[in-house]
Formats: sequence, structure tokens, C-alpha cells
Amino acid sequence: MAFESLSDRLQGAVEKMGKKGKIQEADLKEMMREVRLALLEADVNFKVVKDFVKRVNERALNSEVLQSLSPAQQVVKIVNDELTDLMGGEQVGLNYADNGVTVIMMAGLQGAGKTTTVGKLANLIREQDKRKPLLVAGDVYRPAAINQLQTIGQQLDLPVFSLGTDANPVEIAKQAVAKAEAEGYDTVFIDTAGRLQIDEALMTELKNIKQTVNPDEILLTVDAMSGQEAANVAKTFNEDLDITGVVLTKIDGDSRGGAALSIVSVTGQPIKFTGTGEKLSEIEKFYPDRMANRILGMGDMMTLIEKAQAEFDEQEAERMAEKMKANTFDFNDFLKQMDQMNKLGPLEDIMKMIPGLNKLGGLDQLNIDPKEMARTKAIILSMTPYERENPDDISQSRRRRIAKGSATDLTMVNRLIKQFKQTRDMMSSMTNGNFGQLQNIFGG
Ligand code: GDP
Repeated sequence: MAFESLSDRLQGAVEKMGKKGKIQEADLKEMMREVRLALLEADVNFKVVKDFVKRVNERALNSEVLQSLSPAQQVVKIVNDELTDLMGGEQVGLNYADNGVTVIMMAGLQGAGKTTTVGKLANLIREQDKRKPLLVAGDVYRPAAINQLQTIGQQLDLPVFSLGTDANPVEIAKQAVAKAEAEGYDTVFIDTAGRLQIDEALMTELKNIKQTVNPDEILLTVDAMSGQEAANVAKTFNEDLDITGVVLTKIDGDSRGGAALSIVSVTGQPIKFTGTGEKLSEIEKFYPDRMANRILGMGDMMTLIEKAQAEFDEQEAERMAEKMKANTFDFNDFLKQMDQMNKLGPLEDIMKMIPGLNKLGGLDQLNIDPKEMARTKAIILSMTPYERENPDDISQSRRRRIAKGSATDLTMVNRLIKQFKQTRDMMSSMTNGNFGQLQNIFGG
């Protein structure tokens, strides 16, 4: 996941300072040095880093940080605010036309993820904004591009407009908009050609398309893995085309985060979405504050909650919460939760979004083994309905039967039941407002 080493370094810097009750100006200076190095290492643009550190430093010196009782937390807050600002401050949504067809033109270098993003975005707005999109195959130079878009259209059950590889992209765009108007589509996504590098011919073509269809959005797709080079690419595209926003793809890769942190200040344009994987569902709206929280290891509960909301049935979730609170969570619930969790994505990723959890050292070593999950499931499935509902009432002889039934052994069954009870009790005390240790984790 992007930002990992940046988070580690920033958290390291904070922790170092967090141990001190009161801090001196020299401590602050040392911390700023660490922050600067962390950002440079994350491949953030040099000038952006310089301005950033200057702002944080000024704010820290001007505020009461040095006198305060929790200086580390105050500095963290300042760094957090400034990171949020650096990434644009607010979430910026798509710019839909007030009436008529909204035209969204995509731009970007080859391989940045343009075609994939067309599909992801169209699918997202169909679901979230109840839009009716039409995808347009405007990349006529790479023959595979049209097929690729058509395949994506089929997978998502979205219509694709194409005039083949012989037509002129400007003409394609024009006809596509006319078709949308005639047939009741309200949003047109124009996939355009990319090049390995920016060149005149590419820009001229994009400008011509722009002039002809007058897009409501020109979204630039850039690959987060290319670090601050992504910011340079964005800058050039913006100068030539006046883009209206950026989609930062592949932030699931091991990029260092420099792109997200440089793009907004280098281009003045917002990052509107991020691509988080190859699957067509893997796109998220970009929230600068949540990303800042994630970078600082403060978790990203909002994204987690939203993801969960999309998957969970609300009543069911409430029922679960009540059960956790009342400490009556049983193995049936556990089984359901396991299935739900599987839908949310890899457990390691989920855990990183939970505040505090990512600071409980060793998470990186936590390999959640699918085989282990399968064994756990087998054990629970070998329990009788009575046993699943009454985890406290599973005798030794029952445990032996369960072990046999699930082709595991007594030790595994014992361990699962023990861990289950511990987790259940912990959840009960947490949902009752007693966060105990967790509350103190962040510098406390
Ligand atoms: P285009 O040339 O700009 O149209 O790029 P494509 O849409 O063909 O994407 C290039 C490659 O990047 C494909 O293999 C995609 O599956 C992959 N890709 C696109 N977006 C993402 C993303 O957010 N994460 C990951 N891991 N891969 C992506």
C-alpha cells in the first residue's frame, strides 16, 4: 500500500517527541528535520516539501505548542491539517452539467489506467449518482484499446460507442455526444489515446476534442507509482489542456506517496478519485483529510465505515452492535462476520484503516492465512446449533467431537474457543465505551 514508509517515518518522528512531557525548540527542529526527510524519501517534490515544512514550523512556533502539555499531539494536529491542505483540503466531486449531457473527457499517458478508469468511474456513478453513462472508444491508435473498452463495457453491462479504428477521434467524440442526447444517456466518458510520453500530436488531438465537445470535466489519469514524475506530467497536461481534476491510479502499489502529495500544489487541480486495484470496483473518492489520517497512522475509519455500509445490511449491523454490547455475540455471528469481512477485502488492509491498530507493532508480520480462516470456518461449521449459540457451554467431549468433525485437533478447537471468548469480551467492553488501552495508544 502506498504511504507505508512515509507513515512509518512520520509516526517514528511523532513517537520520539511524544515521549517528552515538554519540548524545546530544538526538539521541534529535530522533528521537522525528520518530517522533511520522510517527505523527500516519499518522492514528494522538493519545493513542495520546503514550503510544507516551513508552514508547519511557523504554525508550531506561533501556537502554544512548546508550552502545551501534549506538544506531540499538537504538532501531529498541525502536520495533519497541513497534509490535508496539501492534498486539496476538501473532497471535490464530479462536475455534472446543469442540464443536458455531461461530457467527461479522459486524458493521460499510455498505461496510466485511463481505459480501466473509464469503466470504474462509469460504474461508480451509475451506482452512487444514478447516472446513465455511455463509454466512448476514442483511442483509435492502439487497436487493443477499443476491444479493452468493449470488454469492460460487457463486464459492467455498460454501452460502448465506437466507430472502429479508421475514424477521427474528434468525429467519434462528436457523434457520441449526439447519440447520448438522442438516446437518453446523461454522461459520456470519452477514452482518448495516450502516448508513452507527452508529444505535440497527442496534445493537439486532445485540444481538438476539447474544442469540439466542450467537456464538463477533463480528468487526467496518472499513475501513482511514477512518484513526483506524475506531478510533472499533470503540470504539463494542465498547462496545455486546463484539466479539471486528477484520478490517481495504482495507489495500491508500493508507490511512496509522492504523487498524491505533490500533484495538487503543482497543478492547482484536485485529485478527485483514486484507483485502488485492478478490479473494476476498485476506485474510491479521494478525501484529503482521510488520506492525511492514513498517512499519519491515525486510521481511516470513515472509508472503512463506508465500505462496510456498502456491504452490510444496516439492521443486521445494528443487531450485531447490540449483541457485541450485550456480550451475546455467538459463533453464528462470528461466521457471518467472517463472510462479511471477506467481502470487504484483505484483512490486513482493513486493519490498517482502524485507528490505533496500525500502531500495535507487528501488524506487518501479521499474515492472515486463508488456510487458517478455512480451518476456523470448518471448526465452527462442525458445531451444533446449540454450541454455536452457547460458546461458554462447549464441554471437553463436545470439543473432541468438533475436532474430529472438522478434521482438526483438540488444541485448535480449544484455541479458537478461547480466542473467540477473549475477542467477544474485548468487543463488549469497547462498545460500552471502555476503550482502555486503545485510547492511550496515540501518544496519550
Ligand atoms: P491506459 O493505457 O491508460 O488506458 O491504461 P489501462 O486502463 O489499460 O491500464 C493499464 C494497466 O494498469 C492495466 O493492467 C490495468 O489493470 C492497470 N490498472 C489500472 N488502474 C489500476 C489501479 O488502480 N491499480 C492497479 N493495481 N492496477 C491498475
